[in-house]
Amino acid sequence: MVDREELESVCKRRGFMWPSSEIYGGEAGFYDYGHLGARLKDGWELIWKDFFLGLNDNYHMIYTPNILPYRALKASGHVDLFSDIIVHCMRCSASYRADHLITDLTGKNVEGLNASEIEGMIKENEMKCPSCNGNFSEAEEFNMMFSLSIGPTGEHKGFLRPETAQGSYMNFFREYRALRRQMPMGLATIGNAFRNEISPRQGVYRLREFLQAELQIFFIPDTNDMTFEDMYDGKAEVTVLLDGEEEARRVRMDELEDLPVFYRSHLAKVYEFYREHMNLAPEDVRLRELSKEEKAFYNLIHFDVEINMPSLGGWKEVGGIHYRGDYDLTKHQEESGTKMSIPVNGTRVVPHVLELSFGVDRNIWAVLDRGYRLDEREWLSLPKRCAPYHVAVFPLVRKDGLEERSREIYKVIKREFRAFWDRSGSVGKRYARMDEIGTPLCITTDYETPEDDTVTVRDITSKEQVRVKVPELIDIIGSIIDGEKEFGELQR
Ligand SMILES: [Zn+2]
Repeated sequence: MVDREELESVCKRRGFMWPSSEIYGGEAGFYDYGHLGARLKDGWELIWKDFFLGLNDNYHMIYTPNILPYRALKASGHVDLFSDIIVHCMRCSASYRADHLITDLTGKNVEGLNASEIEGMIKENEMKCPSCNGNFSEAEEFNMMFSLSIGPTGEHKGFLRPETAQGSYMNFFREYRALRRQMPMGLATIGNAFRNEISPRQGVYRLREFLQAELQIFFIPDTNDMTFEDMYDGKAEVTVLLDGEEEARRVRMDELEDLPVFYRSHLAKVYEFYREHMNLAPEDVRLRELSKEEKAFYNLIHFDVEINMPSLGGWKEVGGIHYRGDYDLTKHQEESGTKMSIPVNGTRVVPHVLELSFGVDRNIWAVLDRGYRLDEREWLSLPKRCAPYHVAVFPLVRKDGLEERSREIYKVIKREFRAFWDRSGSVGKRYARMDEIGTPLCITTDYETPEDDTVTVRDITSKEQVRVKVPELIDIIGSIIDGEKEFGELQR
């Protein structure tokens, strides 16, 4: 259990992440990744790509620009609909996101209410500005996109993209042809998205510039069922909190029979990603079904992935599984005039979209929150593949050739794993430094090394050590990092 300030302080001290433009006092809603945070983020992204692109041979990465033209976002509905309701204090002119304000002051969830309903609630409850007790202005819609002008005379209006998904939708038809007209087809991307949040808070949880990892799966309902049945495992267990139920519970996928198989098969895979690759216990990650009021109107089915994060006060959303129907491609077809339908059994059909969407920064925060340990030492228990360094290599002492030998071993290991070499301070201090940044394994050359070509391998969790022959190191590190073997299974 760790509170937010404590974890933020650890993140700053060790080099993971901190508020951006810090030397100028910072601007709320922007974060920098330091040298360890960048490694952790890269590790997370690699696992994400391996796992989700691995679901189907026809799922691929693409990259598209951060700036989108006006028409693209007019078509997607963001120009007209991507807004929060804002109120200003008439005395101190502070701005508030009205739904958050009401929830804070009354405890009520007001998701889905329009500006006049919100205003009614503010009047009815006689709400005042929390910082100066002043009265509020009228509630109004506030579009959250950052707008900009493109070109020297600003003749083209554009926006920083509010989500990465539109790039994939706009490329649907080009990729459909380039990929020889196979369905289903997945277009994934990892990139920045931008939302001018009215009052960002909770550190990296709500940012104005943030990183998304999204996979858009294009498919024809019914026609493509075989492919999804292939990856479907009815016995796979997940923790769900269904709409209208009070408590989360464990279910087998077969029990969620109201959901179509294409949805269930991906829902189970998303859960597997968190269980197997993020090492979360079933009681710490759940799939929450959104109610009709919470769902965006184009989402036919919507579950959020939520992780229990003590530093943020409990369950927090880190991703979503959105069945968007044919909304996106139909909208772009209408606005652009480009045909998005494909031939299916003699007619033309606009493909449907299943979107798997993840906030990378939130996920990184979750990894740190769930990994932080404070017992007789302060250390991080990270998913091993994600860790900034997989392995550290030390000489026990710097003399008698041990330093040279450890350096040689380090150079070999470094080609395969993220490795760190350290010779300063006592071995105990070096272990402690590696524990603090979550390095799963430490390898030390000692006086036995020149005798029989063995080294010690130390495990971060148990602090136990085993002796291992140097030629076997690469295989052993690989099997531990990939989770094929537990450290306790190593002999000798
Ligand atoms: Zn005020």
